[in-house]
Amino acid sequence: MINPSEFREWGHKMVDWISDYYENIEEYPVKSQVAPGDIFKQIPDSAPASGESMDEIWNDFQKIILPGITHWQHPGFMAYFPANTSYPSLLAEMLTSALGAQCMIWDTSPAAAELEEQMMNWLGKLIGIPSSWEGSIQSTASEATLCAILSAREQVTDFTVNERGLQGHPHFRVYASKQIHSSIEKAVKIAGLGKENFVPIETDENFAMKASSLKEAIEEDLRNGNQPLCIVSGLGTTGSTAIDPLEEISAIAAKYKVWLHIDAAYAGSVLILPEYQHLISGLEQADSFVFNPHKWLMTNFDCSAYFVKDKGALIRTFEILPEYLKTNQDDQVNNYRDWGIPLGRRFRALKLWFVMRNFGVEGMQKILRNHITWAQEIESDISQHPDYELMAPVPFNLICFRYAPHSVDPNSWSKLNKMIVDRIKSSGSLYLTHTVLHGQYTIRLVAGQPYQTKDNLTNAWNQIQETATHCLQEFLSS
Ligand SMILES: *Cc1c(COP(=O)(O)O)cnc(C)c1O
Repeated sequence: MINPSEFREWGHKMVDWISDYYENIEEYPVKSQVAPGDIFKQIPDSAPASGESMDEIWNDFQKIILPGITHWQHPGFMAYFPANTSYPSLLAEMLTSALGAQCMIWDTSPAAAELEEQMMNWLGKLIGIPSSWEGSIQSTASEATLCAILSAREQVTDFTVNERGLQGHPHFRVYASKQIHSSIEKAVKIAGLGKENFVPIETDENFAMKASSLKEAIEEDLRNGNQPLCIVSGLGTTGSTAIDPLEEISAIAAKYKVWLHIDAAYAGSVLILPEYQHLISGLEQADSFVFNPHKWLMTNFDCSAYFVKDKGALIRTFEILPEYLKTNQDDQVNNYRDWGIPLGRRFRALKLWFVMRNFGVEGMQKILRNHITWAQEIESDISQHPDYELMAPVPFNLICFRYAPHSVDPNSWSKLNKMIVDRIKSSGSLYLTHTVLHGQYTIRLVAGQPYQTKDNLTNAWNQIQETATHCLQEFLSS
């Protein structure tokens, strides 16, 4: 077992390794190139009976684990959505691990509770959340959305489902666009409402919810004796960062008195730019809002910011007060155990504090504005290129497009584009993923890494064009 002086030595060694890793990250293939089972078969079937040296463990980390890692912080990582980290966030995470504090209630670490309260205030102010709203850090947007649906369920039943279960109630209906993230349907299932009561709403040509279809669905449910429970409005869907029409949706939510939750998991970070704050006009009518600083705000996973208009509904939904958790301060402080699902909580506010202080608001704004500008420059190149097609609007920094060369039958474009994405994934220098829009295979490219440069984006676009040309030649000659 490591003793304190060895810990010091290994700690220094690992910080050095981490620094080298970040400085030379482009030497690794961005997407892990291993085959299924490659890693598993190198790990022994049981834990060792006697302790092994750090040297052996460290060697195996480099030999076995690293080849099986996809390097999410590589500047060629333009797949999915980013999972940002940054130097200040990493440092804070080290301290959080070192303190090893369980921050379930105020008493178990007052600084964690009070810093969390103030960090949620900072974030809320930064992105334009009404000052009367409050919030807490959740582990994921999926968890926050589940909290929203459970709170809606309890509020509409006067907190009786928690007491007596769902028997005797009408079907509770949850509405969201067909493009909404799968976490909404998952939350409907977990909340015991039944997946059939998730009502997918049609979208328009820009993949945004059609408010008129939402209204029709609610009215039909009312005619059939179902109870509209919650509407989830997307700000930046996962497929194409589509933006649902919040003002129209919030008017409908107000008219029918339905809980309105906003899923801004990815794109919510953009609200730190004043020029985007119009995207949440209508928010005053809503009940809850979630976005993930762990996606596009320089903060390590996990850190999901969940804001609610009425913290009373949230707390009444989740509170528990067994004798062993009672303290003298319960009426003066936030006990975050009652603001969500888990009891135990990590000290996650620390990394937000480090990040927001070290980058400053202007520093964070500059990074996001760069991402958006660079992505939109490539968008403009794509739109002017005769052999490429944009597949969706580019409101932020995600570009959805495809290669559409006239020398190939349009029916084969999906096959050709898949070939391009597969080729790029195995290149080691760039990683892109895909989605399906209008029934067509679509390439997604996201510019969202804190340490990315304009050159990384230019190189990516050049590599895409070269790869596409090669794939076309192969395709035509096959
Ligand atoms: C990523 C994402 C989610 C899920 O986020 P988790 O924090 O991983 O649960 C939900 N909604 C949207 C729009 C997303 O982009």
